[in-house]
Amino acid sequence: MTEIFLKSHKEESLKRFHPWVFSGAIARIVLDAEHKTSEPEEGELVCVKSAANEVLGIGHWQIGSIAVRILAFGIAELPENFWNERIKAAYKVREAIGLFTTDNNTFRLIHGEGDFLPGLIVDVYADTAVVQAHSIGMHLARKTIAQALIDEIPQIQNVYYKSDDTLPFKANIEGEKIGYLIQKEGEKTDDFWSLENGLQFRIDWLRGQKTGFFIDQRENRALVERYAANKDVLNMFCYTGGFSLYALRGGAKSVDSVDVSQKAIDLVNINVARNFPKAKNHTAVAADAFEYLTAQKAQNRTYDLIILDPPAFAKHRDAIKNALRGYQRINAKAIEMIRPGGILFTFSCSQAVDKEAFRLAVFSAAAQVGRKVRILHQLHQPQDHPINIYHPEGEYLKGLVLYVE
Ligand code: SAH
Repeated sequence: MTEIFLKSHKEESLKRFHPWVFSGAIARIVLDAEHKTSEPEEGELVCVKSAANEVLGIGHWQIGSIAVRILAFGIAELPENFWNERIKAAYKVREAIGLFTTDNNTFRLIHGEGDFLPGLIVDVYADTAVVQAHSIGMHLARKTIAQALIDEIPQIQNVYYKSDDTLPFKANIEGEKIGYLIQKEGEKTDDFWSLENGLQFRIDWLRGQKTGFFIDQRENRALVERYAANKDVLNMFCYTGGFSLYALRGGAKSVDSVDVSQKAIDLVNINVARNFPKAKNHTAVAADAFEYLTAQKAQNRTYDLIILDPPAFAKHRDAIKNALRGYQRINAKAIEMIRPGGILFTFSCSQAVDKEAFRLAVFSAAAQVGRKVRILHQLHQPQDHPINIYHPEGEYLKGLVLYVE
C-alpha cells in the first residue's frame, strides 16, 4: 500500500483523532510497487505514517488541500468487516436517540466525520437509503457501502446513489454518479412518502435538493409546532414545507409558505393536501425572499411567527463577509414584519459562519430595526447529525428563536 509520511510534529492532530491530513503536512509519499503513475490515485486507500515511521491510520487519498480522510486510526489495513461495523455502530446511535417509532422513519444514518466516515452521507426515507459521496474514495466504495446498508439495516431495501453535486470536479471519475445501486423489484419512485414525527412528506430524491429532504430541521420544526397556535405564520425558504406542516398541526391561524423554486412549492402543496386535506389556511408562493418581504412590507403585512431558513449564504470561508451582510439584511426585513410579541425562528446552515458570527449578524439586524429582542432558544443540528468532538468543523446548523417586543 502507498505510504504517506508526515513532516515531524504533524502527527499531533491525527493522534487526537482529527480525521483530515492536509497536503501541507506531508513530507513524502512512497508509492507501492503497482503504481504506474507518479502520484497516488484519487480515492485510493493509503497508510499514513509519522516522520518516525509510526502507523497513524488508513484513509482515502484525494488531490486538494485535504489530502487524506482517515477511516481508521492506528492501523494500516481496513478490517474485512469495516463498512458493516461502522454502519451498525451508526444505527445503534440512532436507536439510542429513539428515532425508530411508528411515527418516524426518516433519519440520517451516516453524517460523515460525525460517524467516523468522512466524505459519506446516508439519509434514510422509509425503506430507501439515499447515499451521497463527498470524496472520490467514498465514490469508489459505493457498491460495498450499498451492500452493507442492505445487510445491516433491516428496513432498507433500496439504495439510491446521488453524488452528481457533491463529488469534487474531475473529468474522469469512473462509474455513475447517480442512480439506484440496489432496487427492490417493483419499487415506485414517483409516489414515495416518508414519515417524520407523524407527518407525511413526499420525498423526491431523483429531482429534489440534497438527498431529497432537510432532515436536520426535524427537532426545530417540532418546536415551531409548539409556538404556532392561533398565529399567522410565514415560512420563508420553505422548500417542501417542513415547518409549514408542523405549524398547521400546531393550530396556526394561517401559514404562508414561500420558496424561489416552483418545484418546491408544488411539493409543499402536495404535502399539505396529503396531511391536511381540508386546510383552507395555507398559501404557497414561488418568489424570491427579498422581493417577497419587500412587497409584503409595502402593503403593511405583518406576521406573528416567521421562520427564516435560507440556503448556506457562505459556501467558503472567503464568502463570510458577504454572507453576514446577507443574514443581517434578511433578518432585519423579517424582524420589521413581526407584530409586537411575535416570534422569529432564524437559521444559518453555513458551516463557515459560526454561532457567534451568526448571532452578531442577527443582533445587528435587531439593532438596525430598533426593536427589543430576547433570545428564547438557541438551536442546532439534531442528534442524528452528530458532531465528532475531535472534528468541530462538523457543526454547521445554528438557529435562534427570538421574542420581538
Ligand atoms: N426550511 C426547509 C429547507 C430550506 S433549504 C425545510 O425545512 O425543508 C433552502 C431553500 O431556500 C431551498 O428550498 C431553496 O429553493 C430556497 N431559496 C434559495 N434562494 C432563495 C431565494 N432567493 N428566495 C427564496 N427561496 C430561496
